[in-house]
Amino acid sequence: MALIWQESRIVAAAPETPRVRRLTLAVGWDRPFRAGQHVDVRLTAPDGYQAQRSYSIASSPTRPEAIDLLIERLDDGEVSGFFSDVAEPGDAIELRGPIGGAFVWEPAQGGPLLLVGGGSGVVPLLAMLRHRAEAAPDVPALLLYSARTAADVIARDELIRRDAGEPGFGLRLALTREPGGRRIDAARIGEALAALGGPAHTFVCGSNPFVSAVSDLLVDAGVPAATIRTERFGGETP
Ligand SMILES: Cc1cc2nc3c(=O)[nH]c(=O)nc-3n(C[C@H](O)[C@H](O)[C@H](O)COP(=O)(O)OP(=O)(O)OC[C@H]3O[C@@H](n4cnc5c(N)ncnc54)[C@H](O)[C@@H]3O)c2cc1C
Repeated sequence: MALIWQESRIVAAAPETPRVRRLTLAVGWDRPFRAGQHVDVRLTAPDGYQAQRSYSIASSPTRPEAIDLLIERLDDGEVSGFFSDVAEPGDAIELRGPIGGAFVWEPAQGGPLLLVGGGSGVVPLLAMLRHRAEAAPDVPALLLYSARTAADVIARDELIRRDAGEPGFGLRLALTREPGGRRIDAARIGEALAALGGPAHTFVCGSNPFVSAVSDLLVDAGVPAATIRTERFGGETP
């Protein structure tokens, strides 16, 4: 069934990190969404020029009436620049969704769950973690998350709180631009797998190079390729 474009309204906006802004949009969907899905947004200029982009849903499906998007400002980014600098609560935004059938996790799928995110690629993984905490807290889950610096870690306070307080959830940060920082490598993957045990489901999300590199590392570490699902946000910056 083709999804139709519909008008949604921004009901809240707040900085999430220096480069990422959180927007809450009221949506009028007649069916629930699943953690991992995304929406398309479409901007139309006064001269009729249109730009369309995809953004993952960060919030839990348990709150279907309003969704959170986390949008990273890219240098010269056409649509991310608009959402970072121009869009404000009260604005109407053209949106269609929810979209995506493969990169989704539902409590019935169980775990263990290995989530690997790079930069804003953590966004759909946040929806999965939030849903897991509410609906299936017994499912073991580990998030391996690569960000540039500590300040760039999306939902940092929440993730640290969950790591400390939620049995069965583990957080591993790989900060690439902090002193002594390093990217996700074979050793980090090996350590995550040892801590979690064999994952039943692995979700990898980020830029094209990030997803390719991590997928190769996972397969090299013995994770069955059929259990790995990927979402590519485009872009070249790992
Ligand atoms: C399924 C899906 C879900 C997505 N979810 C999110 C999300 O939750 N949050 C989010 O911030 N983005 C997300 N994206 C990326 C988003 O759709 C846009 O590509 C991004 O916001 C750039 O659009 P722009 O118009 O600002 O940049 P453009 O004007 O299209 O491009 C500006 C410059 O940035 C480069 N670029 C384009 N995309 C990226 C990228 N993703 N990373 C690095 N460089 C890039 C381009 O090559 C170009 O040089 C998602 C993409 C997909 C396919």
